[in-house]
Amino acid sequence: MKPASSSSEQTSLSPAQRSATHNKRALVLFSGGQDSATCLAWALSRFEHVETVGFAYGQRHAVELTCRETLRHALAQQNPLWAERLGEDHTIDLASLGALSDTALTRDAEITMAENGLPNTFVPGRNLIFLTFAAALAFRRDTRHIVTGVCETDYSGYPDCRDDTIKALQVALNLGMEQRFVLHTPLMWINKAQTWQLCHELGGKTLIETIRHESHSCYKGDRTHEHAWGFGCGDCPACELRAEGWKQYQEGA
Ligand SMILES: [Zn+2]
Repeated sequence: MKPASSSSEQTSLSPAQRSATHNKRALVLFSGGQDSATCLAWALSRFEHVETVGFAYGQRHAVELTCRETLRHALAQQNPLWAERLGEDHTIDLASLGALSDTALTRDAEITMAENGLPNTFVPGRNLIFLTFAAALAFRRDTRHIVTGVCETDYSGYPDCRDDTIKALQVALNLGMEQRFVLHTPLMWINKAQTWQLCHELGGKTLIETIRHESHSCYKGDRTHEHAWGFGCGDCPACELRAEGWKQYQEGA
């Protein structure tokens, strides 16, 4: 990752100025998928300075990491204010997470449901780890707000996407780092069709078209087959969820 800078812009500020700046800065967990793209648009419409962070953990769909820069750039082009607000991108290497978690997300295996009711794409504690690293980065970047696209409505059974998990983690991070971070989850209580609706509210048809075309959700990393809802293999759980959400959005729109 790029070193977290301690730029003179930040160090020359008084504590009061620093606190005011701190409150206007957000860090978005940005994977390049539909949800995190919507979260980035949400953050750009609210905060004065928005940075992004992505994690490389040996995921099969590493293509989503390569979609990130194109998508970030396309989102910044939505309007001049967003372009002004979009700051640095950070990538954190978490190869050890991939090595520890032998799942269908990190190796070439069929995606199935395990006996414990969780899909075998579940990487234990992935969101806890991502948010903890994001908070450490936010601390260094003098940033109060952390935004993640986790969602309890379509959460595929991942327990670290639950609202209670995120709230408990916010308390733990604030105690453990002596901070007042706010973990924002704008998608927590909405489904995929409503996520498209939120997209429309944030940036109209242009934003929908950008996210539909440039974001990546497919677990298998397929960028060759284009569907009405975007690129993907069309039959992994992520594609099925995305296709279903798009269908519902179209029916309701
Ligand atoms: Zn797929």
